[in-house]
Amino acid sequence: MGSENEKMVTVEEAIERILGSVEPLKAETISILDATGRVLYEDAISPFDVPPLDNSAMDGYAIIAGNTSQASPEKPAVMTITEEIKAGGNFEEKRVTDATAIRIMTGAPIPEGADSVVEIESTLEEDERVLVFRRVARGENIRRAGEDIEKGSVVLRRGDRLKSSDIGLLASLNIDLIQVYSRPRVAIVSTGDEIVGVGEEIKPGQIRNSSSYTLYSEIENYNAIPEYLGIARDTKDAVRDKLLQALEYDVIVTTGGVSMGKYDFVKEAITDLGIEILIETIKMKPGKPCIFGRKGTKLFFGLPGNPVSTLVSFIQFVRPALLRMMGSDKLDKPLVNAVLEEEIKKKPDRKHFIRGYFTIRDGSLYVNTTGPQGSGILRSMSIANCLIIIPIGVDRVKAGELVTIQLINHLEV
Ligand code: AMP
Ligand code: MG
Repeated sequence: MGSENEKMVTVEEAIERILGSVEPLKAETISILDATGRVLYEDAISPFDVPPLDNSAMDGYAIIAGNTSQASPEKPAVMTITEEIKAGGNFEEKRVTDATAIRIMTGAPIPEGADSVVEIESTLEEDERVLVFRRVARGENIRRAGEDIEKGSVVLRRGDRLKSSDIGLLASLNIDLIQVYSRPRVAIVSTGDEIVGVGEEIKPGQIRNSSSYTLYSEIENYNAIPEYLGIARDTKDAVRDKLLQALEYDVIVTTGGVSMGKYDFVKEAITDLGIEILIETIKMKPGKPCIFGRKGTKLFFGLPGNPVSTLVSFIQFVRPALLRMMGSDKLDKPLVNAVLEEEIKKKPDRKHFIRGYFTIRDGSLYVNTTGPQGSGILRSMSIANCLIIIPIGVDRVKAGELVTIQLINHLEV
């Protein structure tokens, strides 16, 4: 027991060791239409001002503000309308002078001479003249050139994970191809004599493979490329053969076979294949047995077999590693405080990740557990929208106390 304890690392130590072993992948050039969720390899720099010209923020009249200094509802300022400018319409050679106004639409460039736009709502138009019923300040209703983005400024940085608004931003800069980090190819291997694939006949005592599917979905979620290599039976040779095939990939994720059981062969097999083991057990629940190893730049994760342990370990360890490989500098799921609504008791020796469901009431967060926490109960993971984190050293948290929750369905911060 003593030696096992020494080998056990905390969750934080494990993450540090894992991230310390990750090499970001190379760049590839792709269309912005394929880039949602991908991570920029280069800064995106604006080649021009956005918007490129001063333009109107309202439908109204381009005027010289000084001419309205005495204007009021009773005594409107009056100007002759000489021209009209539509959005996208011709504006050159059109000019506003002291006694004149130009009818202008939202988004249309401000003509020479004008220093403001008065919105239609404060005017009345009659006989090619406009009556302005209020004092207008200089610059009112004008969107300035470069107000959104100045030419030469960095709008997105290397390491940024692209979201929809970023894709639109790149489009507005006329950037259609960008360099992003490549996506790691991730091999998924199940182990277990009892595991049966989806669609296959199942006999009493056998277990349907769910974990490989959970992993497949999660790996896709994080924009890496999953490949399911099937089930290795519980012999050292079968596991080694499967893993040899898996070594073609950037990352290997296995499930099961990492406990102390007689038929748990993953550790022996990876040692045989020259994979250096950096972690074997982690002070956490669920998911204590969890192997992390590496061979060159290839990463190996031997996740525990119980479906909940598999997923919780994936979220804590594989997910940040994949994101780092893809160049992302945001690796943490949001951690926030919530009021615990039921008592939790646990042993103090490990960090617990308890499936929880948070609600927001009057702007505050409250959290409950999802019920029984057996590591095989995948349904409670499906119901959960967060993990309640109870640190090492704590054996009881009372209802009404604050706990930290990890928002598992939210983007990294
Ligand atoms: P093991 O660590 O191999 O002893 O597995 C622990 C538990 O997880 C056992 O009850 C297995 O049947 C179960 N298990 C292992 N792999 C999977 C899988 N791919 N899908 C569902 N359950 C699994
Ligand atoms: Mg097994």
